[in-house]
Amino acid sequence: MRGLTGWWQSRVLERERARVDPQDLARVLDALPLLDELTDEETRRLADLALLFLRDKRLDPAQGLALTDAMRLAIALQACLPVLELGLDWYSGWYAVIVYPEEFVPEREVVGDDGVVWTEREAKSGEAWEQGPIILSWADVEAGMERDGYNVVIHELAHKLDMRDGAANGCPPLHAGMSPKVWAETFSAAYENLCLRVDAGEETPIDPYATESPAEFFAVLSETFFELPDLLYAEYPKVYEQLRDFYRQDPLIRLGGPARTS
Ligand SMILES: [Zn+2]
Repeated sequence: MRGLTGWWQSRVLERERARVDPQDLARVLDALPLLDELTDEETRRLADLALLFLRDKRLDPAQGLALTDAMRLAIALQACLPVLELGLDWYSGWYAVIVYPEEFVPEREVVGDDGVVWTEREAKSGEAWEQGPIILSWADVEAGMERDGYNVVIHELAHKLDMRDGAANGCPPLHAGMSPKVWAETFSAAYENLCLRVDAGEETPIDPYATESPAEFFAVLSETFFELPDLLYAEYPKVYEQLRDFYRQDPLIRLGGPARTS
């Protein structure tokens, strides 16, 4: 919301609010159990952020998808949850969300370790480009509205936050007072633990896709943090605490879970 201060910001918001049918908004909020425990005040702030998000970013349908206002709102509300306490500035520097009807298959040249170039054709539910757009599959956004730990919108936006200080590496820029050393130690230990468990054939409650790389670990655990905070806390409490300090939200408290330990 840079530069939008005081009366100007409220004028912009008034205009954006007038564009949305309140019943539409209520229906979309109802369809997102992820937002159930937000207070009324938080929900109002989230809705305002979502409207500003839709004003700042182009949502472009691809492959003939009919992208309705309700679908746009559903994407924007989920996209803004991670920055509810950080502000929209954290999403500055990129401008578009491209929405495919289903999984999409980007074709790209990949140079293997042996120097051989091949074309990668891997179906994806979402993608985040460094300094570029976010790409989402609507079918996966819809599936992600169930509260099961899987949320492609939060996943891709977590990558965007991670990329604010360069290539995605599993560590977004941390706030003053947070220790990069503690972050690195906490995430490395949990990452190694999950990799060992997945390699041993354990069916982990956290999506094993997290073991692809530290960047995927941060994105997947961000999904878990917002969708199933009690599960993340039970598995990796120290990671939960780092994410709580980074996102400046405590979803576990919203669920009435255990009091914070630090
Ligand atoms: Zn990812």
